[in-house]
Amino acid sequence: QVVNYAPFTLLPSAVPRALFEQAYAVQQDFNLLVDAISQNKEFLEQTLASTIKVDDFTAQLFRIYMQVLEEGLAQTVFLGINRSDYMFDCGLDGTAALKQIEINTIAASFGGLTSRTADVHGLVLKVLGKTKEASRLLPNNPAKGLALGIAKAWELYGSQSAVVMFLVEEIQRNIFDQRCVENELWNRDIRVIRRRFRDVFERGSLDGSRRLYIDNQEVAVVYYREGYVPQTYDQQNWEARLLLERSRAVKCPDIATQLAGTKKVQQELSRPGTLEKLLPDRPEAVARVRATFAGLYSLDEGEEGDKIAATAIADPERFVLKPQREGGGNNLYGEELRQVLQKIKDSPERTSYILMDKIKPQPALNYLLRAHSPLEVSECISELGIFGVYVRQGQEMVLNEAAGHLLRTKAIQHADGGVAAGVAVLDTPYLV
Ligand code: ADP
Ligand code: MG
Repeated sequence: QVVNYAPFTLLPSAVPRALFEQAYAVQQDFNLLVDAISQNKEFLEQTLASTIKVDDFTAQLFRIYMQVLEEGLAQTVFLGINRSDYMFDCGLDGTAALKQIEINTIAASFGGLTSRTADVHGLVLKVLGKTKEASRLLPNNPAKGLALGIAKAWELYGSQSAVVMFLVEEIQRNIFDQRCVENELWNRDIRVIRRRFRDVFERGSLDGSRRLYIDNQEVAVVYYREGYVPQTYDQQNWEARLLLERSRAVKCPDIATQLAGTKKVQQELSRPGTLEKLLPDRPEAVARVRATFAGLYSLDEGEEGDKIAATAIADPERFVLKPQREGGGNNLYGEELRQVLQKIKDSPERTSYILMDKIKPQPALNYLLRAHSPLEVSECISELGIFGVYVRQGQEMVLNEAAGHLLRTKAIQHADGGVAAGVAVLDTPYLV
């Protein structure tokens, strides 16, 4: 076992106050939107139809989704924890605009660790004699907000003796982030256990009313911190996933909500008219959500896809090519984007990707502090995430909140990658 400090910037980074507030203001809308998509079988079916023909991982998730629907849902309480990520796109006139990178609907991490970063940066500023600036750093406690959502779902499930199960990785690289949320639950006298897919396969079971049991304990809530990359799943782990999804336990997220977070869904949301259909009678929410969208393009077979593929091959610096994967390091940029797209442009494989306009933030100098790495000043860009939490019981939303923020900063030479990928580090916004 090795323990390292989590990587962080020496100094907080400047973030435009108006954009920060805009990101908070749209979070409840995104919660409603994700929840609406997760309940819309027709939309998910249509949107993912082309993707699941060529992407085995999405196809397998989709098969489980259909299988669970066919049997009928045993789950009646729904819990969503997501994180909507943004960059500040710098326009030609120098003004910055908030543009969504993606929304993470499964295993959105760093809510725990980042609940401590404002304290770290406050201390650094004080050491530097910047007491006034230190006092301006905002308090931020997503760990508490996420735990409140889990606790609400646990309560509505309605069994005092049932536990919350964190579904964790085989090799755990971010355990302390999870412990922050876990401890908030213990503080509320809610029992937490940690298990892997393998444990569920070996010792998990359902009773006659599809209550989930493991090691003689009933599970009220399954909080996934695992399960979003294909490498996780062998045959047994897929069986474990199916067992969990069939159960009455509150899954965070259920498989429909995981599918709602795919890049293909994100791209289809940007089509004119789609948001209006998903959020009828909420024109203001639709406008707030749409204002954060960057250009997103389908590579489905046909004229529209042919045209944008040709444009991207001619001018790859304008775009990012994204497959249906999570966790960082999967996107293609620049010359590599051009080569791959050139190779697959006439094959159905093309439809497993989407294209997105590349966001170009204004860089700033900072020091990135990482265990065992040399200290040097870097030109950096930041990505702001807002945590969203909601709980729905049947058709009634009983909780819908923004639960805090995360700022991650990386050196500009890395096109891709988050903190877990070893590229970005934890930061604190300093509003300007
Ligand atoms: P993942 O699911 O792997 O996190 P993302 O869509 O968040 O996928 O992309 C990973 C990283 O790539 C982001 O954190 C960001 O740094 C960079 N990135 C993604 N999309 C864009 C974009 N449109 N413009 C600029 N950078 C991007
Ligand atoms: Mg991301």
